[in-house]
Amino acid sequence: MIETIRNLLEIQSIDLHIKKHLDAIEQQTTRITRIRSDADNRKKQQNSDMAAIESKKASNLALEKELATIDAKISRAKHNLDLIKSQAQANALNNELKNLGKKKEEIEGIILVTIEAIDGLQKKIAETNQFLDGVQQSITEIEEEVKLAVAHEEKEISILSSRLTNLENLLDPKTKSLFRDLNIRFKYKYPLSIVGRNVCSQCHFNVERNLQSIVEKGATIEQCPNCSRILCPSAALK
Ligand SMILES: [Zn+2]
Repeated sequence: MIETIRNLLEIQSIDLHIKKHLDAIEQQTTRITRIRSDADNRKKQQNSDMAAIESKKASNLALEKELATIDAKISRAKHNLDLIKSQAQANALNNELKNLGKKKEEIEGIILVTIEAIDGLQKKIAETNQFLDGVQQSITEIEEEVKLAVAHEEKEISILSSRLTNLENLLDPKTKSLFRDLNIRFKYKYPLSIVGRNVCSQCHFNVERNLQSIVEKGATIEQCPNCSRILCPSAALK
């Protein structure tokens, strides 16, 4: 049985190697997903910037109309100033002109700030357009790289898989089916556990001295009473 256990350990080790290659494939494919999602986010931001520009333009248009009204009021007040006689009326009109002037200045300030904001957004949109053009180019290049890398990983996996099949064919049917069942739960999570110092190395459950010596003999396949992993004698590692 010790040979069988050695085979199982080898199978477990190959499985873990395959997992590394599968992870590498996943890492490669996420490179593209990441760039695409980055581009999507920039595109969404660009759309919302465009909407912001439209709304800023609309608000400036409304302010400009308000400015025109104020201008009309100012010229009417100035005209009236020429006609009045009393100082009180003159004071009232001057006061009105002062207030209108202040309001006008305020609105002009807001319009200017809004124009600057629109300029900033337009620059950002232009930059995004440049970025999106570049992204298409790099996606094509990266896709090529990813394809090569994935093909390499798949080749490694296929070599490992055929070794795996050969080793599995060496197992007796009972052990094979037990290992398959355990691998459903513990694939890439060590379906095999070494027993040392009366402890299952995977779940750290105490293995009775009696069971440990049965495992050490290596004549039968024993399982951990707690996690059901196959218990391997440390001698099988040599
Ligand atoms: Zn265990």
